[in-house]
Amino acid sequence: MFAEVGVYTTQPARRPFTYAVPPGMALAPGMAVFVPFGPRIVQGIVLRLSERSEVEAVRPISAVMDPEPLLDPARIALAEWMAEEYLAPLWECVACFLPAGFGQKPVTMVSPVDVPPLLPVYPKDRAILQYIAAHGRVTLDELRKAVGQVSLTTLQRLQQEGHLTVTQGLARPTGRPKFERRVALTVEPAAARAEAERLLAERPRSVEGRVLLRLAEEPDLPLGAVRALGATPGHLERLAERGFIRAYDRRVERDPVAAVRGGSRPPPVLSAEQAAAADTAWRERVTLLHGVTGSGKTEVYLDLVGRALAAGGGAIVLVPEISLTPQAIRRFGERFGDELAVFHSRLSTGELYDQWFRVERGEARLVLGSRSAVFAPVRKLELVVLDEEHEWSYKQSDPVPRYHARDVALKLGELTGARVVLGSATPDVVTYHRAETGQIARVELATRLAPAEDGSVTEGALPSVQVVDMREELRAGNRSMFSRALRQAVREALVAGEQAILFVNRRGSARFVLCRDCGFLPLCPSCEVAMSLDAEATIHAMLRCHHCGRTKRLEERCPNCDSLRYRPFGVGTQRVEAEARAVFRGARVARWDSDTARTRDAHERMVAALEAGKIDIVVGTQLLAKGLDLERLTVVGVVDADVGLSLPDYRAAERTYQLLSQVAGRAGRRDRPGRVYIQTYEPEAPPIVAAAEHDYRGFYESEIAHRRRAGYPPFSRIARLVYRHHDEAAGLEEASRVARELRVLRDAAGRAEPEILGPTRPFIPRVRGELRWQILLRGRAPGTLIGQVRLGERWQVDIDPASLL
Ligand code: ADP
Ligand code: ZN
Ligand code: ZN
Repeated sequence: MFAEVGVYTTQPARRPFTYAVPPGMALAPGMAVFVPFGPRIVQGIVLRLSERSEVEAVRPISAVMDPEPLLDPARIALAEWMAEEYLAPLWECVACFLPAGFGQKPVTMVSPVDVPPLLPVYPKDRAILQYIAAHGRVTLDELRKAVGQVSLTTLQRLQQEGHLTVTQGLARPTGRPKFERRVALTVEPAAARAEAERLLAERPRSVEGRVLLRLAEEPDLPLGAVRALGATPGHLERLAERGFIRAYDRRVERDPVAAVRGGSRPPPVLSAEQAAAADTAWRERVTLLHGVTGSGKTEVYLDLVGRALAAGGGAIVLVPEISLTPQAIRRFGERFGDELAVFHSRLSTGELYDQWFRVERGEARLVLGSRSAVFAPVRKLELVVLDEEHEWSYKQSDPVPRYHARDVALKLGELTGARVVLGSATPDVVTYHRAETGQIARVELATRLAPAEDGSVTEGALPSVQVVDMREELRAGNRSMFSRALRQAVREALVAGEQAILFVNRRGSARFVLCRDCGFLPLCPSCEVAMSLDAEATIHAMLRCHHCGRTKRLEERCPNCDSLRYRPFGVGTQRVEAEARAVFRGARVARWDSDTARTRDAHERMVAALEAGKIDIVVGTQLLAKGLDLERLTVVGVVDADVGLSLPDYRAAERTYQLLSQVAGRAGRRDRPGRVYIQTYEPEAPPIVAAAEHDYRGFYESEIAHRRRAGYPPFSRIARLVYRHHDEAAGLEEASRVARELRVLRDAAGRAEPEILGPTRPFIPRVRGELRWQILLRGRAPGTLIGQVRLGERWQVDIDPASLL
């Protein structure tokens, strides 16, 4: 028998390796094993067993690491699909499915061979041998923790004497279950009390007497509590020998959601619209659930999860990390109690490890988590939900594999038969196009709900949105960053004791050019994305297209209207904050951006201050747009709606639309009506018009037309290759070599696609001191071509990249 094994190698490999199965070794796909690789022993996961081998000289599997398979056949197939799809190392893809802390770094293991009955006199030798005789195979770290410093020379000597073996590369999960040592009474409390009284009468300070007395009150205690009474191991040993107590280890479950469990609240009766949506989603393989925020999508997810559990199966619900708030967790915890496991990045390795095994054992059948929760080992998977499916945080950019959780979820659904539900108020254009073309089902929730205290709901209103043309403001002599309408609205809010957000779009500030008079923005004629100021140009200001590399000199006057007010653009949060303080005297202004919001705590403090009414105006970036639900927030001003629009990325319009919809959604969520002001130099830009009218359909139609015309997804796929090097000449040479090789391969195959753009310097030309070059490929399956060239370690491959900047 042979086994194909995904192996943890330092040189990334995309294929499995073949090993012989030693006679008598019980092996199944999905098991973790140790295999020889070069001079080392490394970890692997068995992918498949086969009768014959393609390879002649195969080495045998060294050992089974865990007799329980860690991956089922569907997950094995999914891992292999990821390696192909994202051109990622196979092991890294397999590792996504393993429990957190599954030892990935090779460690030194020490195993007992033959511990002599007469232990050596040298105390260190004796301690080592005693420890491994009692514990079996241990890591060197563990041994050192137990007996103090242990040198490798000592170990080698003991190995030569035949007492132990030292192996390299065998690792165990680092996040092993946590055990707590406890002491329990093995006799009736009355008997313990009687003995305690006898001992204490004999000697009033008897430790054993006190221990028994304490245990008579509480017959099972942590060892620590007993030690606190002054008990030494000797005392406890004597009591155990006399049959009064025993010591044992109890597994401690580290449960991060304990606080939100239980408290079951009865589910609300779904509206007819919601019930119909849930029925469709339950019937279809993949469904887009399109509904504005507050339209009751989460209640539909909850209903579907209920159906999955009732069917005896399990479910995975993915939300963007930033939305995984205690409030969100509580909604699922209240409904499903102990069935819920939560996976997110703030859990410790140990907590994640426990959660993983609870799910694997089938104790928790519902997993709620951010993108990597798609890999959770839910059995009999019936449902996968992606909330806010348009969010780009579902795409992992680093480290490898650079997967998109939505695509992984769709493939997982295909492989397991689970239904997939994609929910959003502003669906990804690619997802919406799939629904339009009948590849997936679609349901809509059109009404925003306004829940009342008593649990009933009424129809809520969307905020009114006004687009403010900043060119008009200038013509009217207003040179401030705030339009007259916005200023007026903020003043009114302040008088009424309400709150306002001033939203600043900070991505890529001041790197592109805009005419203040006519709104003209220089576009690359072939790529239809904004050209931006070249960060590296020195003599003349140059405009550059970061997709194809086209450059041109920046004109002094607007090519469209000849205005001289054709200038770089973009404001920072600090400037907006300063101006807000100056304009709205006496108002309490706070700033919220990546400088002030470094920690999770800071976020929660800011939200608390807002809730308590300690802040009147917040100046913030997109971080602020997510999930904020404040009763008294009525005015939202988007200071510079155009900034995102001009970024050299084909998704600039989509991101702008999504962001504006989301920011606007923060205003007037309760009974006070909300007012939103979008300040722009391009008031006719389709994403701005559509966001102002809450018109997803209108946005989609203009956007899909643009994508079709320019050949962007969904009409093609994009792959990005990035090369980093500190040396300009060497970097350019290597980037050019790869681009040339790609073109040669494509032409040799007699094909016109994929289109190969570059190498160019990307919009962000340096990262951590290294220069970057990028090559973009655009076509039906650009990954296939990339798979054929040799790429060294300095290359990064990203299929369907989240950003082209
Ligand atoms: P979304 O996920 O689309 O933002 P939610 O599911 O959070 O919407 O619903 C918005 C609010 O309306 C929540 O407070 C929710 O509890 C309430 N709600 C939703 N559906 C119902 C219903 N059928 N009956 C009563 N309240 C509901
Ligand atoms: Zn102009
Ligand atoms: Zn171009």
